[in-house]
Amino acid sequence: MGNRAYNFNAGPAALPLEVLEQAQQEFVDFRGIGMSIMEISHRSAQYEQVHQETQNLLKELFNIPQGYKVLFLTGGASTQFAMVPMNFLQPGSVGAYSLSGAWADKAIKEAKLFGETVIAASSKEQKYMRMPDLSNLSLPENTAYLHVTSNETIEGSQLQSYPDTGNIPLIADMSSDILSRQVDVSKFGMIYAGAQKNLGPSGVTVVIVREDMLEKANQSVPTMLRYDTHVKNDSLYNTPPSYSIYMINLVLQWIKRQGGLDVLSKINRDKTSLIYDTIDNSAGFYKGCVDVDSRSIMNITFRLQTEELEKQFAKESEQQGFVGLKGHRSVGGLRASTYNAVPYESCKALADFMNDFSKRNG
Ligand code: PMP
Repeated sequence: MGNRAYNFNAGPAALPLEVLEQAQQEFVDFRGIGMSIMEISHRSAQYEQVHQETQNLLKELFNIPQGYKVLFLTGGASTQFAMVPMNFLQPGSVGAYSLSGAWADKAIKEAKLFGETVIAASSKEQKYMRMPDLSNLSLPENTAYLHVTSNETIEGSQLQSYPDTGNIPLIADMSSDILSRQVDVSKFGMIYAGAQKNLGPSGVTVVIVREDMLEKANQSVPTMLRYDTHVKNDSLYNTPPSYSIYMINLVLQWIKRQGGLDVLSKINRDKTSLIYDTIDNSAGFYKGCVDVDSRSIMNITFRLQTEELEKQFAKESEQQGFVGLKGHRSVGGLRASTYNAVPYESCKALADFMNDFSKRNG
């Protein structure tokens, strides 16, 4: 790995070294055109090829069925919190939400600015130590959609399965676990994700929307904030974040070379087992923040007995080349984000460091 850090950043986060090296190679002269891909029109044949290929690769790797569109939007997942209700919440209908943590809470707050919401399930009373139970939902008849956060990046919880919502569209914020495992995309009305964890650099948000969702969408929404604008124009209504999309392209090619999502999800499980096992076998020195059956394979959150010790852990780990292990400022503690591009070796090194640290301080 040369001088590469053990990067456990929560996002923007680690990218595969191979991808960075390929980008470096193509940086000033993209495939022989004598210019960077950043320097050419988004209407050029060379860029359009990258644009199309990126959509197709995502469809292939994520097994996206016919009838769905892949969009590349801007404004981050945070803009999706607003676009979802703007487009899909009509007068007289309600947006149903699973309140699973800090990001779900933000999504709900945005929806409330537009219309009526209901909390269909919540784990707030459990301090978000687990994902809400979605197995026996009773949704109002006028529910426009059910919104879930598949992975709560701050708390470190992840949905282990998705509910069947029948005719009610299921919409998921998959910002921090998209492509970490295969899901049945046909269950969803829409999936969205900011790119900067598992897909590429920041600056682009991927939206996968079932086309029939647009038939019912509100028309009195500003042009740039309407999904149908971007569907009709293939995400080229205005200038897209072309460099970020190109980087996603390279990441998707890398995923394909790894053998696809089934291979990656197994590697992800092996990676996180190393760290969760270390926590569970530490005789209480480390304590996982989330109930075992809600644990995330992308963000591992844990605590030590005192904040003092946590500070020491953060400091010593930094000295040894580990980056990004401090928990989110709103919850404290420690967090290791183990996205797709974080190598197994980094997780092994972290588990070894954790064992060593507990021996010295236990
Ligand atoms: N949802 C989740 C689950 C996230 O982790 C984040 C970012 N950490 C967001 C939404 C917000 O994303 P953005 O910064 O791209 O707006």
